This record gives sequence, structure tokens and C-alpha cells, in this order.
Amino acid sequence: MYNIKKINYYLNNILSIASPSGYTNEIADYIKEELHLINAYYYTTNKGSIVVTIKGENSENERTFSAHIDTLGAMVKEIKASGALGIVPIGGLDMNTVEGENCSIVTLFDKTYSGTIQTIKPSVHIYSDARTLKREAENMEIIIDEIVNSKAQVEALGISVGDFVCFDPKTRFTENGFVKSRHLDNKAGAAILMYAIKYIIENNIALPYDTNFVFTTYEEVGHGAASGIPENTKELIAIDMGAPGKGQNSSEYSVCICAKDSSGPYDYNLRKRLTEICINNHISYKTDIYPNYSSDASAALKAGYDVKTALIGSGIYASHGYERTHMDGILSTLDLVIKYSCEK
Ligand SMILES: [Zn+2]
Repeated sequence: MYNIKKINYYLNNILSIASPSGYTNEIADYIKEELHLINAYYYTTNKGSIVVTIKGENSENERTFSAHIDTLGAMVKEIKASGALGIVPIGGLDMNTVEGENCSIVTLFDKTYSGTIQTIKPSVHIYSDARTLKREAENMEIIIDEIVNSKAQVEALGISVGDFVCFDPKTRFTENGFVKSRHLDNKAGAAILMYAIKYIIENNIALPYDTNFVFTTYEEVGHGAASGIPENTKELIAIDMGAPGKGQNSSEYSVCICAKDSSGPYDYNLRKRLTEICINNHISYKTDIYPNYSSDASAALKAGYDVKTALIGSGIYASHGYERTHMDGILSTLDLVIKYSCEK
């Protein structure tokens, strides 16, 4: 009943638009374009979150979903005398995972250059410690794909400190349902939210409560949903990623329901209801705990919103690296979003 082609259309487009925290205008414009096409009512907050509201029977107790559209990335910290660029990460990046990756440098006045992220000792034929050098930001730099060998030449290109660095997402859809890409955290969640809005509007589904769908920015740096949650919200569900791995219960093939992360336990009763919806509708789900994780729902609570919160999402393997998930996990998450939205 869900149109997988359309979900993949949204997912592929969202993955292809770079959106490190702080540089999200382009992806926001894309989301707004798609919202126009389906006649969804929305507004944009000062900080840049997009809030879509679909009216329901009850307007006093609203329900809100959030999905962040910002991702990891980097920023130019220094133009070196050699013409290479020193960088600083944006969000919880593991530098090991970006070594040798293609990237683009976006200047303040919208010129884009390509480059490669290398260590400062990238050749084993030259540096005897090339293999053992610690992969941390100070030891990594960008080699720009331009003929430059001085700071002045790089500056002449219009590149300066503070320019955003976007990593090549390397998106691949396999025939058996896997999606591999950087930034599936949380572009998978954003695509699910986008499709859920379309599905509810186009099928004229009657919702029991006014339901909001918020695309947030700045989640990866900790304060995404600290503002912009509609004030009558009683329940806030963050759609983000599950974290499968050693000792974890999450799965790429299920919707993962978070019981607790570093910010503490999520609302007990809301989690119970979401779990019951999965059981009653035969939605494949996994409950899990994340040791190094906090979400937009945690950001909203810390900001003082008086809401019950939950965190759900498809399991994303190798999160904050080159990530992978499966359409089964995406569809299970979508199904839970739709079934919860319809629940009285
Ligand atoms: Zn996330």
C-alpha cells in the first residue's frame, strides 16, 4: 500500500542535497517545493525548522513528529601555506570514516569546489608513520582539486575560513532493498516524514488530533528541536535512527523504539502504546537502548517543553560513518508513524 518508488524518490533527492548543520537552506527549499506539490500547509520558524500541520478532530491536544534534516559535515578552519585546507568537524564525526573521501567546499558567496580529505601524511611511500598517524581533525586536511600551492592562490578562489565542507554521500540502492549512504541519519527519517505527510493528505485520512510534522535543523549540534515545537503538543515523537551493532537489539529491518539513551528514559506510557501498535498491526519492531545518543526529543525536553517523548527509526548500521539500512526498516517506521497518527 505504500509506494516504495515514491519513498525512494524522496530519499534519493534528500540524500543528494548536502545539508551539514548550519547550511540547510537548500534542503529546506527542496522540502518546501515538495510540500507545495502536495498542498501541505506549513510555516518556517526563525531558526529554519519547517512545521507542517494536518488538521484533525481535536485541536487542543496536538501530536508532533520531528525529523532532522541537518547532517554531519565540516568547516574550513585554516588555509595552509601549502594551499591545503585545515578543517574542523561539525557534529559527532569520526575522522577515520572520511579519510580519502571526496568532498565539496562551498564558499560564502556560493561557489563550489571539489577536493579530497586526506591525512597530512597520505602516502606510504613517503611517510613511515602514514599508517599509524592518529586520524583526528588536526591530522586531516583537504586537498583542493585546483592548481594551487599557496594561501594566496586559495584565497583568490574565494575560499575562506568558515566555508562549509560537505562529504560525498555515495548513495547506493541495491536491488534487494538495502540503502547505503552517508547521512541516512537522518535523511531516512526525513524521507519517511515527507512520505507520511503525502500519504495522509492524498488519501484524505481523517486524523483524530491536529498532527504536526517538523523538519528540524541543528540536531547534530544538539539544539534542533529546542525551539519550534507547536505549543499544544502533548506527545512528541522524534523519527531518527536505531543503532544496531554488538550488544544492541536494533535492526536494519525493523522500526527501533528507544527505551533509553544518554539523555535518560523516554516516556513509558507512550513507548508502551507505540509497542502495542506494532504488536497489533504486525509491524516488525525492536526495543533498544543507546549508550551514546540523544535526540531532538531530548533537546525539546531540555529546552523546557512539557511533552511526552518517544524516539523511533529504522536501524542504521555504522552510524556517522558510511551508513546502511534496509527498506524493511524504513517501511516499518513509516507504518508505525501512520498507524499512530490514526490512533484515537
Ligand atoms: Zn540523527
